[in-house]
Amino acid sequence: MNLEIKNVSKVYPNGVKALKNVTLTIPNGMYGLLGPNGAGKSTLMRILATLQEPDEGSIRLGPLSDSGQAIDVLNQKDKLRETLGYLPQEFGVYPKARAEELLDYFAILKGFSERKSRREAVEALLRQTNLWEVRRQKIGGFSGGMKQRLGVAIALLGNPKLLIVDEPTAGLDPAERVRFLNLLSELGENSVVILSTHIVEDVSELCTNMAIINRGEILLEAQPLLAVAELKGRIWRKLIGKNTLPALEQEQQVISTKLLSGRTMVHIYSPEPPGNDFELVEPDLEDVYFSTMAGFYGNGRQKEVAP
Ligand code: ADP
Repeated sequence: MNLEIKNVSKVYPNGVKALKNVTLTIPNGMYGLLGPNGAGKSTLMRILATLQEPDEGSIRLGPLSDSGQAIDVLNQKDKLRETLGYLPQEFGVYPKARAEELLDYFAILKGFSERKSRREAVEALLRQTNLWEVRRQKIGGFSGGMKQRLGVAIALLGNPKLLIVDEPTAGLDPAERVRFLNLLSELGENSVVILSTHIVEDVSELCTNMAIINRGEILLEAQPLLAVAELKGRIWRKLIGKNTLPALEQEQQVISTKLLSGRTMVHIYSPEPPGNDFELVEPDLEDVYFSTMAGFYGNGRQKEVAP
C-alpha cells in the first residue's frame, strides 16, 4: 500500500502558489515532509485530509487489502475519512473535558457504537499514549506534550491507514518531544504516517523516507541515511570571524552558518577539497537539508556534481 500524489497544485485566491506540481510516492511507515515555515506543508496536509481542494492533480491511497482497490482521495472523500487520522497543527481541546471522556466521545463519532468494544479501544489508546494515569484529569491542566499525545490517541481511533501529523513537536519541551517521537515511532508499520515538520531532527530520528519542500516545490525525495551517505566528502567547515562571511560567500558554496562563542561556524558544499584550512565534516541530515535548500543538492542535482 502507498499514497500516490500526482501533479498537485494549489493557488490561494490572493495569488500565493502554495503547491506547484507536487508529485510524491509515500510508502508504508514514517515519512517526513520537511520544510521551512510557509513552504506549503500544511496546505498539502489539509488536502490529504480532505479539508481543502487542490486546483489540479490526483491522489490515491491503497489498495488497503490484497483484493481491494485504491481510494481516489479527491473523489472518494467519505471513504478516505473512514481510514484517516489527522492531528492538525492547531489542535483545539475542550479544557473542562477529561481525557477519557473526550476520547470516548470521539470514539462514538468514529462509529464505535458498542459500549464494550469502545471502552476497550479507549483504554488501549490511553495506555499506548501514556495517558492512562491521568485519564480522569481535565485537559485544561495538561502540558503541551500531553495534549499532543491525546491528539494522537484521537487520531488513532479506528486504526487509520493514513495518519497525518502536522508540526507536532513545535512548542514541546525536549523531554515531551522525545516522549512524543517515541510514541510515533511505534506506529507506522502497517499504515502511511506523514510527519510534517520544520525540525530536521524530527525526521532524522524517525523517518525512513522523506521529502524536502520549499515554496511549494519538492526539492528532494530521499531516504535520510542514503542522502547523508551521498554527501560524504562534500561538506567542509571552518570557524571564521563574522566580518569575513560576505567574502567567503563569494568564493564558496556556503550552506549554513552557526554562531559559536562569538565566532561563526560555516559549512560549505564542495565536491573538491577547498583548501584554506577547511576541515572535512561527517555530514548529517541538517547538511542534506541546507545543501538542498541552497540548491546544491536535491532532485536531479547530485548527478550534475557526481565525479
Ligand atoms: P507551511 O505549513 O509549510 O508553513 P502553508 O501551507 O501554511 O505552509 O503555507 C504555504 C503558503 O501559502 C504561505 O505563503 C502561506 O502564507 C500561504 N497560505 C496558507 N494558507 C493560506 C490561505 N488560507 N490564504 C492565502 N494564503 C495562504
